[in-house]
Amino acid sequence: MAGGQSIERLVRAFMAFPGIGRRSAERIVYFLMADPERRIHTLLDALSSVVERVHRCPVCNNFAEEELCPICRETKRDRRILCVLAEPRDLEAIEKTGTFRGLYHVLGGLLSPLDGIGPSELSIDALIKRVHAEKPAEVVLGLSSTVEGDATASYLMEVLGSSGVRISRLARGVPAGGSLEYLDQRTLSHAVEGRETISRA
Ligand SMILES: [Zn+2]
Repeated sequence: MAGGQSIERLVRAFMAFPGIGRRSAERIVYFLMADPERRIHTLLDALSSVVERVHRCPVCNNFAEEELCPICRETKRDRRILCVLAEPRDLEAIEKTGTFRGLYHVLGGLLSPLDGIGPSELSIDALIKRVHAEKPAEVVLGLSSTVEGDATASYLMEVLGSSGVRISRLARGVPAGGSLEYLDQRTLSHAVEGRETISRA
């Protein structure tokens, strides 16, 4: 970009974002530089408040600004049912359907030995402890139908097997290789409502 090194560095920073190529990155940078006082300071403010205030919920590993995340703080949730998800954005997708009223547990990713992601890289120990302590009636695995999603589901069935909890998985309708956030709300609602029990200890 014909604007010097700092500008180029900013363009490259935006190019590291998902779905942003050089053209989009340059458009964002030109947009910011058209009114740097206002636009860049607004962005800096938003970024620093996320850095300062947002952490992972100690109970479910979702994003939180208070001590606990908004879902864990809500008193009207059905505490007998726990939905296990890979990422906070999957939680957002399921919440938007309004179909699920239980609690969540966010793993922080999926098992992927090739990428060096094993059980200890994910919030799995915390999930096991939680299931033993809270004794929910059902654990719903809301994991994508990918190789990693399937591997994670099998591993969780194995480690949660001794807890006696009923384990179910989202119904078909979740396309193979699909991530929950890309599903339309109706498909996702049906997947939650039509979930199938996959193990009963
Ligand atoms: Zn939480």
